Amino acid sequence: MSFGNLGLSPQLLNRIDDLGFTEPTPIQKGSVPPALEGEDVLGIAETGSGKTAAFVLPMIQQIEKFRENGQHRKGAFALILSPTRELATQIQETIDDLQIHPKVKSVVLVGGVSQHGQVQKLKAGVDVIVATPGRLVDLMQQGLVRLGTIEYFVLDEADRMLDLGFKREIDTITSKLPRNKQTLLFSATMPDSIRTMSEKMLRKPVLVELASKSHNKEQIEQQLYLTNRPDKKDLLLHILENPEIEQVLVFTRTKHGADRLCRHLVKKKVKADAIHGDKRQNARDRALSDFKENRIRVLVATDVASRGIDIQALGHVINYEIPNEPEIYVHRIGRVGRAGLTGVAISIAEPEELVDLRNIEKHQKMNISEIKDHPFPQTDKPMTATEKKEFNKQKNLIKLAHIKSSRENAKKKSTHKRKNSPKR
Ligand code: AMP
Repeated sequence: MSFGNLGLSPQLLNRIDDLGFTEPTPIQKGSVPPALEGEDVLGIAETGSGKTAAFVLPMIQQIEKFRENGQHRKGAFALILSPTRELATQIQETIDDLQIHPKVKSVVLVGGVSQHGQVQKLKAGVDVIVATPGRLVDLMQQGLVRLGTIEYFVLDEADRMLDLGFKREIDTITSKLPRNKQTLLFSATMPDSIRTMSEKMLRKPVLVELASKSHNKEQIEQQLYLTNRPDKKDLLLHILENPEIEQVLVFTRTKHGADRLCRHLVKKKVKADAIHGDKRQNARDRALSDFKENRIRVLVATDVASRGIDIQALGHVINYEIPNEPEIYVHRIGRVGRAGLTGVAISIAEPEELVDLRNIEKHQKMNISEIKDHPFPQTDKPMTATEKKEFNKQKNLIKLAHIKSSRENAKKKSTHKRKNSPKR
């Protein structure tokens, strides 16, 4: 099936052609036709499947249509919710890539930056709001954004939004949306929480489910280097000597770890930067654009900050630390092997991480092939007391970070509850 068979307008088909997309991806084939018909869609698809265009194309076409009919709108037509600021920005980039004439006006409402510019844009009038739940609720409570005109509502990476503790914000937002609207929900996984959410929010949705994990997996070569903790940094530098690794996204578990590794790489003359939630938004944007425009070779990232990062033709990712959830591993390696390209996902594991690694292999029902020929092989020798202390410290830091973030979420929720409880 070609793009020409999806029911898209000539203007959009030209834009798709300009972007060099020759064939729709499976999620686009499944979602675009029903979305153009105004039906609700439940799309189970990961980042890299082309899901953004799958909801942006029908949205732009519907905007084009009401303009042709001479309809003048009083407020925004579409609301797209995204779990992270980076993903929100990338959704806006896709809207701009598929831009028609006259321009579809969009605003990105995300935290971490001043709200002033965002509010000015809202006041000037927009067709599309792309937002993270926290900032949107904040602006709603200040009476600066109204959702009564929304007809097209997208929840992108809904599972991730729930993981990040945004359930309450999503409920607040949906309670202010008109009943009569079209809803599209995209999620990489389908846990019970998403099933319940979709049953509540969607009306007879068209289910588009891809065997996405295996589809991606086949395009990704997975490699494993076993070593010991003290040798990890040197092994990474050794791996980076491979000129085939033009650019690479390196994952660490903690923000602190990302900064430390980045500093070490820079000291060793590797052009690198780090991206994580403690960095100011403009520093994150700068690191991301330096990486996209090839001014740095290595981007060290934590999982949340990297979520949704879309770099065309990224060939390599490295798991400098093995995640303790197989789902996170799947998300990480999904940064490569996008839209039909092949890629390599390298994992560097120390003995203490083998349990997590075997869980990942079990989850994806395949073994990761080990590269044995390298100068820092794993030895059985137990960790020294200092190494053990450092390893435990790291583990505790991760635990503390989890506790802190769930406390912050709980605090946010109780403040929110207080703010919203009726005044006596
Ligand atoms: P997404 O899953 O939306 O993050 O998209 C992943 C990447 O695939 C993006 O860089 C898109 O520009 C690209 N892409 C989307 N649709 C297509 C297509 N039909 N053909 C080729 N590339 C595409």
